[in-house]
Amino acid sequence: MSGDLGKLEVKSVREGEGRIPMQFAVPGVTDDDLSVMKTWYWSDELSLDAQAALLRIEVRSYLMNVDGLNVLVDTCCGNDKQRSVPWAHRLQTQWLQNLAGAGCGPDDIHLVLCTHLHADHVGWNTRLEDGRWVPTFPNARYVFSRKDFEFFGRQTHEAHNREAYVDSVLPVVEAGLADIVDSDVCVHREIEDGIWLEDAAGHSPGSVVVWARRGGSRAVFMGDIIHHPIQLVRPDIPFFADENPAAACATRQRLLEQCADNESVLFPAHFPDPAAGRVRRAERNFSYGFL
Ligand SMILES: [Zn+2]
Repeated sequence: MSGDLGKLEVKSVREGEGRIPMQFAVPGVTDDDLSVMKTWYWSDELSLDAQAALLRIEVRSYLMNVDGLNVLVDTCCGNDKQRSVPWAHRLQTQWLQNLAGAGCGPDDIHLVLCTHLHADHVGWNTRLEDGRWVPTFPNARYVFSRKDFEFFGRQTHEAHNREAYVDSVLPVVEAGLADIVDSDVCVHREIEDGIWLEDAAGHSPGSVVVWARRGGSRAVFMGDIIHHPIQLVRPDIPFFADENPAAACATRQRLLEQCADNESVLFPAHFPDPAAGRVRRAERNFSYGFL
């Protein structure tokens, strides 16, 4: 999938996919909610029975080219990582080949932006070389939000996120490639255009969304503010991995409204393909037009 928004070029770099029971991931979704979603999105894998439905979750990065700058947003789970969850443990995926297919080798990346520091968004920050974790992108600056950097350095109830912090975040900092920043910061600016972060706390304390604007086109990379289209119908239900459920729901509602009103193209980290689309206001909260 690729989207060319004027001079803002975005490509998806896929790692893999997984499935989670709907009632575990977004408990309280009803048969009726699924029927509403069915009017604008459906897949053969889905079921109208909310008790039986499975959520398909893609894991992908986005590669954006703006002003000749190659920007990677989120870096999936990574290969060879020791994880206490089976879905991320010692993966051997084609992600680097997929990045090459999108036109970039590791040396070509200028900027790595992690929307938050969960294990499925930081993995390819590093790779295993002679038994050590080294930065995958030696010529890049990596941008991490300070609140997540502090939070995951201190605590997290999930071992795999702690493991990711140790092998996929700290080695980048130790190599001197990290910029640890506030949650509202501009990372690249041209006249009228640029790339900037917006605070999106809730899913994690330092979650950010990445906005990009170029020649009148606007894109937003939402990380884990939303995982699946069903959350456009039910933005009020916390996702199981939200660290602060109430804040995560409020943030999701606010950003989806913003996205609908300023007609940005949304690039969600985990939606089914073709992931990019436009959020619209609907009778029941929001709907989505896949591009
Ligand atoms: Zn995620």
